[in-house]
Order: sequence, then C-alpha cells, then structure tokens
Amino acid sequence: MNDRMPLAAEPTAPHVQDVQASVRALFDRHVMPTYARFDLVLSHGAGSEVWDVQGRRFLDLGGGIAVCALGHAHPEVAETLARQARRLLHVSNLYYHEPQGRLAEEISRHLDAPGKVFFANSGAEANEGMYKLARKFGHAHPGADGPRYEVITTVNSFHGRTLGGIAATGQEKVKAGFDPLPEGFRCDVPFNDLAAMEAAVGSRTAAILIEGIQGEGGITPASADYLTGLRRLCDERNLLLLVDAVQCGHFRSGCFQSFQRVLGDALGPAAASAFTPDGVSMAKSLGGGFPIGAFWARRTVADLLGPGSHGTTYGGSPLGCAVALKIFEIIERDHLADHVRQTGAWLHAEIAALAREFPGVVRSARGLGFMLGIELAPASEIKGFAARAGERAASLQFVDRLHEAGVLTIPSGTQIARLLPALNLPRSQAEEGMDRIRRVVRALA
Ligand SMILES: *Cc1c(COP(=O)(O)O)cnc(C)c1O
Repeated sequence: MNDRMPLAAEPTAPHVQDVQASVRALFDRHVMPTYARFDLVLSHGAGSEVWDVQGRRFLDLGGGIAVCALGHAHPEVAETLARQARRLLHVSNLYYHEPQGRLAEEISRHLDAPGKVFFANSGAEANEGMYKLARKFGHAHPGADGPRYEVITTVNSFHGRTLGGIAATGQEKVKAGFDPLPEGFRCDVPFNDLAAMEAAVGSRTAAILIEGIQGEGGITPASADYLTGLRRLCDERNLLLLVDAVQCGHFRSGCFQSFQRVLGDALGPAAASAFTPDGVSMAKSLGGGFPIGAFWARRTVADLLGPGSHGTTYGGSPLGCAVALKIFEIIERDHLADHVRQTGAWLHAEIAALAREFPGVVRSARGLGFMLGIELAPASEIKGFAARAGERAASLQFVDRLHEAGVLTIPSGTQIARLLPALNLPRSQAEEGMDRIRRVVRALA
C-alpha cells in the first residue's frame, strides 16, 4: 500500500470537507435521487486505486460494477480514445466504418461460432435487442395458437431498468410502481431448475433468457447440467436460448463467457465448445468504462432483424468500437483470462477461509473468477452490527466498514458484498484487499 496516502478514516483539512459537502449539495439540488449513494466523492484513479476529493486512497475491488475491465485511467485505453477521437468520433449507422466490423468479428471469434452482432450503448439496450429478436423469431415460427412472443426469465434475475428490462427482471423491487408493464415476459421460474423451466414453456413461448451467473441476485452461476439441459429443451421446443452476459461476460469468469468456463470445468473443452446459445448480450466490461453494449445472435437467426427493424443513433460508434477492440487486445496480450482464473481462485479460497474462521460474520464464498461474493450472516446476528441491527442490511453495513478500511466493493441484496475487480488487478493488490477485508471481518466477530 502507498504509505504517503492517509488511511480512509483519518481526519482531513476543513476545506476538503467543504468540497465533499458542496458536491453532495449539488446532487441534492440538481440530480434525481434514483440511487442510494454512499457518502464518497471520488476524484481520480489509476489501475485499481481510486482517490476521493479528500485525498483518501481506496482499493477498488468493485470495478465500477464489473465495468472497469482494465481499471482506471489505463494509458493505452486513454491513448486509443484520444487518437480515435481525433480521427472519427461518430458517424451515423447509415454508413460503414472499419472499427464496428472488426469488433463484431472479434466477438464472434471469441464465441467460437458463426453469428452477427448488433451494437447498442448499454446492457438494458442490448437485452432489448434480444427481446425484439425473440419476437421476430416467434412471429417467423408461430405455435399452434398463433405467433409466439413470450420470453421466460428466472427468479432473482436482473436484466436492466428500461420498461422491457424490469418486465424481464425476476425481482419485484424493480417493478414496484411502474405497472402496467409490457406483456410477454414470465419471470417466476426458479434459476438452475430445469424441470421448472420445462414445465413453464407454453405454446406462446419464444425464448428463454438467463444470466450466465446471476449478478444482482447474489452471484449464482448456472450449473453445467442446467446449461446443457436448457440447450436441449430449446432445441426440442424450437426456442431461442438467450444469455445475458452483461455482468458475467468478457473474461470475468476466466473465460470470455461464463458458460464456457462452467462447461469447460465440469465437462471438458469439447463440451464447452459444443454449446452455443442463440443470443448473448454484453456491455459493462466490453467498453471498460466507455458506454457500449452489444448482442450477438447465432447465424441461424442473425438476419431476422432486417433493414429498418431495429436501430440506435450511437450504437457501435468508431470511438466505442476502437476502445473495445483495444481492451480485447490487451486482455489477450497480457493473458488476463489466466490471471483472473488464478487470482480469482486464490480470492475465493481466502473468502472460504474467512467463512471457516469467522462463521458468525461470513457464511460462504460465492462465484468464480473475478465475480465473487462474500455471503454474510444476517445483520442481527453479526456482533459488530448489533447496535445498528435492523436498520441497514448486512451487505450495506459491511460495505460501509470496508470503505472505512479503504476498500470499495458492491453490495448485492441484503447479505452479499460483491468483488468485481478489474481483470488486471495485480496479485499484490488482491492480497492487500483481502488483508483489509480480513481485518474488518475480525473486528466484527
Ligand atoms: C448491469 C446489468 C444490466 C443492465 O445494464 P445497463 O448498462 O445498466 O443497462 C443487465 N443485465 C445484467 C446481468 C446486468 O448486470
């Protein structure tokens, strides 16, 4: 750790406190209160270190919620952005340009299957494209009762915040107060339960959509049996199998896609490359912080969305695509997938050790690669939280304590703190982070 930087809890000069307060005041007055924000005002970063306006240093193990694939202020990414901005920042999708074509090729190459890509600007939009693909597919292949349109998703899933996104999401809290929601979604089917999915498919069903690893729902990977079972079910019933890889994709699992990792581990490389979904959505780490989303569709259905059927002004801009290509290049050049596997396994083992040593605080280690969860005991059972128990979820209180210890993590639900660090998080910083997490856990025990 950098000794010259004050620890998070040290008091600071009054004028910097003023900056903190004035930024907060600006938000209170002018920014919609849609987020429950932590009391941190960040100023700049480098790699997996980030500093707030008071000069306090934090180790960023949240990675901007799995967005900052190469950390903050990566010099090559910054250089690529600047160079492409001087050359061609935006052109309409009325024209061709090379970066978009090359990025689409790169995505198909990593999926190891022929297909085509549509570019959007966010995860929710990428998923919207897949819903529209499912509708086109269901109209092209009607069932006994007419066109099919229903997309089935799972309990605790998360698919974004547009109206379509919240209709698809299997969590009541995102839907409250927004009805009537768009029709054609069913999201009450338990995750990793193949029999329940089989039973849910009806004459109107056109597609099944799952996350490769449920993220907002608490870091739950799809099992190998579930994946192969869903593929078989979709083949038998002529349904699209769609994977939302917005959070779990882009090498976070130690493979380009989490299903490649899960199937490779359980059944070997042949089984992994034999499995192909019909659609895969991506965003977050794809642009490393530049807003870009995309969905890939298998060759058999990739031309269903013909000219005039779908579009977006900014999608696949030269700037976004140049950055995403650079990120692909660096991940491969620096063997970051291997790094994520190895360092992710180490982190997982460390969290599991905490669960054994301090079972009153940490229940279990969840996830794989750099998509990890520290599952906590309920707030009321954690000694260190006793005084405030019931007020604030364990996940939030834990994340607060980690902030005081100089570590950023991401809460998930009431009992999980997520680690979604940059794919290039150095081993030494992974160790520093675990050291600080361990100290916080010990103090709570
Ligand atoms: C973040 C996320 C989304 C939404 O992405 P946005 O870019 O916020 O629209 C969708 N699905 C999953 C699994 C996500 O984690």
